Amino acid sequence: MRAIVHRRRPPLSALTAAFAAVGLVLTGCTIGTELDSSAASTPAAAMSASSTQAVAEQQSPEAPTTRPAPTPTAEQPLIGKTIYIDPGHGGPVGEEMWEQVPDGRGGTTACQSEGAATKGGLTEQTFNWQTSQLLSADLKRLGAVVITSRDDDAGSGGCVDQRIAAANQADADVFVSLHADAGPEFGYGFFVNYPSAATGEPFEEQSAELALADLTPSTYAGDEGLLARGDLAELGLAQVPAVVVHLANMNNGIEGALLADPAVRKGYSMALTTGIIDFLTGSVAPAD
Ligand code: ZN
Repeated sequence: MRAIVHRRRPPLSALTAAFAAVGLVLTGCTIGTELDSSAASTPAAAMSASSTQAVAEQQSPEAPTTRPAPTPTAEQPLIGKTIYIDPGHGGPVGEEMWEQVPDGRGGTTACQSEGAATKGGLTEQTFNWQTSQLLSADLKRLGAVVITSRDDDAGSGGCVDQRIAAANQADADVFVSLHADAGPEFGYGFFVNYPSAATGEPFEEQSAELALADLTPSTYAGDEGLLARGDLAELGLAQVPAVVVHLANMNNGIEGALLADPAVRKGYSMALTTGIIDFLTGSVAPAD
């Protein structure tokens, strides 16, 4: 892990920028924040609100009351949160892989792709799966409900559009798709894709201020580890806060070799967990 972490700030704030940035984007396009703040934003909520009012008017002690939301604690700050983790790839193989599916922006994209691999033979699919296992365990320990797109390394998580559709369906508080990149051999580091069409004007400045701290930002992709994409179905179809995280460049010999180390994967999991907590609990304020 130390070979990756090279900056001065504490090592667990790596995704702060990414998730805070996503929060800013989503504030701009009113996804999520409206869902959270408007008690009557769904038919069920509206019914609940009106029946509560009626009950109050009748002052009936027998009347049902709205079940209180579970309360987060210091030990479990993610109680009440649903987090969708997508270990990238592992979907249909063969001809089915190339079936075109909607990208959410009026175009189409392949159902799935094979993903990258290190020179040592670690496939991205397996790396993503292994990292997702650590991340899921960490998030559950912190009180979150965790949904994953596939149940094992070999299992199919479906096409890319199906994965984000499942997160939308679950009304997840955040969707995180785990990947590693197949970049140029000389390049290394971490970058986060966020939905391009939702980019707000203050976003890039604020993102720069909240620049990724401790996982080395990519030397070849994005700006300080942030890269907007308009062609990823996972982002184009998102109705919840969504990011696609590229944790490392598998084509780089040194960085690729590190990915086989469980301690390195644990470091990624811890960084992602901290980023998720920061995003979901608002502990990192956006820059003015
Ligand atoms: Zn990938």
